[in-house]
Amino acid sequence: MTDKPLFVTKEQLEDIASRYPTPFHLYDEAGIRNTAHALQDAFSWNEGFREFFAVKANPNPTILRTLMECGCGLDCATSTELLLARAVGARGNDIMFSSNDTPAADFQMADQLGAFVNFDSIDLIYFYRSQVGTLPEVVCLRMNPGGEFEGANQIFDTPQGSKFGMTPDQLTDACRMLIQAGVRNVGLHALLCSNTHGNSYYPALARLLFSEAVRLRRQTGIHVSFVNLSGGIGIPYEPSDEPCDITAIGEGVHAAYEEVLGGANMDDVAIFTELGRFMTGPHGCVVTRVLHLKQTYHDYVGVDTCAADLMRPAMYGAYHHITVVGRPGGPNKTSAPATHLYDVVGGLCENNDRFANGRRLPEVEVGDLLVIHDTGAHGRAMGYNYNGRLRSAEVLLRTDGSYELVRRAESPADYFATLDVTPFFDKLPH
Ligand SMILES: *Cc1c(COP(=O)(O)O)cnc(C)c1O
Repeated sequence: MTDKPLFVTKEQLEDIASRYPTPFHLYDEAGIRNTAHALQDAFSWNEGFREFFAVKANPNPTILRTLMECGCGLDCATSTELLLARAVGARGNDIMFSSNDTPAADFQMADQLGAFVNFDSIDLIYFYRSQVGTLPEVVCLRMNPGGEFEGANQIFDTPQGSKFGMTPDQLTDACRMLIQAGVRNVGLHALLCSNTHGNSYYPALARLLFSEAVRLRRQTGIHVSFVNLSGGIGIPYEPSDEPCDITAIGEGVHAAYEEVLGGANMDDVAIFTELGRFMTGPHGCVVTRVLHLKQTYHDYVGVDTCAADLMRPAMYGAYHHITVVGRPGGPNKTSAPATHLYDVVGGLCENNDRFANGRRLPEVEVGDLLVIHDTGAHGRAMGYNYNGRLRSAEVLLRTDGSYELVRRAESPADYFATLDVTPFFDKLPH
């Protein structure tokens, strides 16, 4: 099997692990910046282009600030994510608020921050107006085309079964209602798949949304100021996966833009994206140490991380590549032959707490450092405290080779922070 390259050396990993106990998430600032710039280059043909990084994928303030320095805005779904966006300096149109089943307080905060608001239903537009008093200047509408969504050469997904978005008829009604209410500008949004491979998803989605933009303009007279292609571009989790070619994707969207919008004299539409996984996924990994080995009907490698730090394998059976680095001061195993078959597991009392099943790896010893790849998106962010497991720290490898703790590990005090541990008798009335 071909191996995946690491963004750090064994020596760097040993140095970092001597400062911060394993496990921890490690992020690569240079990789994140390069990806942000590659995305912007791919869409530089569109004057208003902007990426709003999906905060849920990696809600670390240092990562968010790094992406904002690269010119990105932030895509939030809850009031807590809005607080985070505000804390890192995002204001007004730096923020896209893409929520569903939204509480009133969340809309009120989106209004206070002046965010773009992406509505999941007509009902939510009325709800927003009743709670906030006004409507946003630009209203973004989330579309669900129903049926199956077909790209150039593959069926991506079945929007029919998805809880998100409005039908085309509801979009028409929404535009008519908005014009009545004095709103002149809308955006259109759809997220129809995640972790797509190949380069055809965005161009196919763009064609669909551009066609809807033309239809809505013709039928209602509304002005479409942006099309938000949302997230969904995938990354190569498996060594054999082809990475998406963002330049080709940008060109594919450009061709659809010229054809559909250019032909309709609508070439002032800005393109927005809300990528999460594509931006940070490959630029993070979990660094963990082997605690125990065990042989029963399988050969088990027990590591010091668990699903509390990375839930994707347990939740989706997702593949994450693993590199055996070796012991500090010991031989470098990163390119050693994969001679053994292991199940790599964490310590939760759940049999699905495992990072690999029947994986070919070099021979593993207790104390070896292991790297679990591609955890920079939907990794630490999905963590939880099941079994009283405390979530790991996050470390950033800076572009100059230095590293910085950007989130400490949880402590038992964090676990108990939501409890009143005052002895019960102290609370009894006297
Ligand atoms: C999850 C999500 C994204 C990001 O998805 P990725 O697959 O990480 O690119 C963007 N927009 C919305 C509304 C989402 O729910």
